[in-house]
Amino acid sequence: MYKDIESKAESVLISLYGSLDAIILPVDLAKAFEKILVEIEEGSFADANMSGTYSREGDVGKLLLSQQDPREQKVFIVAHVLGHFLLHANTSRDVFFRNQITELDDEINPEEREANIFAAAVLMPRQLVQQYWNASQDSVLLARKFGVTSEVAEFRVQILQLL
Ligand SMILES: [Zn+2]
Repeated sequence: MYKDIESKAESVLISLYGSLDAIILPVDLAKAFEKILVEIEEGSFADANMSGTYSREGDVGKLLLSQQDPREQKVFIVAHVLGHFLLHANTSRDVFFRNQITELDDEINPEEREANIFAAAVLMPRQLVQQYWNASQDSVLLARKFGVTSEVAEFRVQILQLL
């Protein structure tokens, strides 16, 4: 399953950049999102623990993100939604709570976990992670390089079994 997710993430990167060698960091998913017809809006939620909601009706999806969240967190939600779209055709609704984004390893719902694995894979392309990880072995530096949170960087390194 990991391999399937990895290759889906690689096809997205190839469609965005032409080839895996031409990726520019941080990965920008805006074009992929336009293709799957998801609109992104920012606002604020009454519940302070919420950082996003996604819903899809027919062909058009809508993703609401919390405007006060850091960019790295929003980017992960965007990548996670793209993962559902590509891996689970029937996902039409999703709610993001802050702790789900920071405790990635505790996710037990298989589809949520797959969407997280996809998100980390598309934001942190394998070859580049391996290259930077070999150079520094520092997940904070890695996170900065790829424009993700350090939790995502650690999760990705674990998935790649580099530790
Ligand atoms: Zn989800």
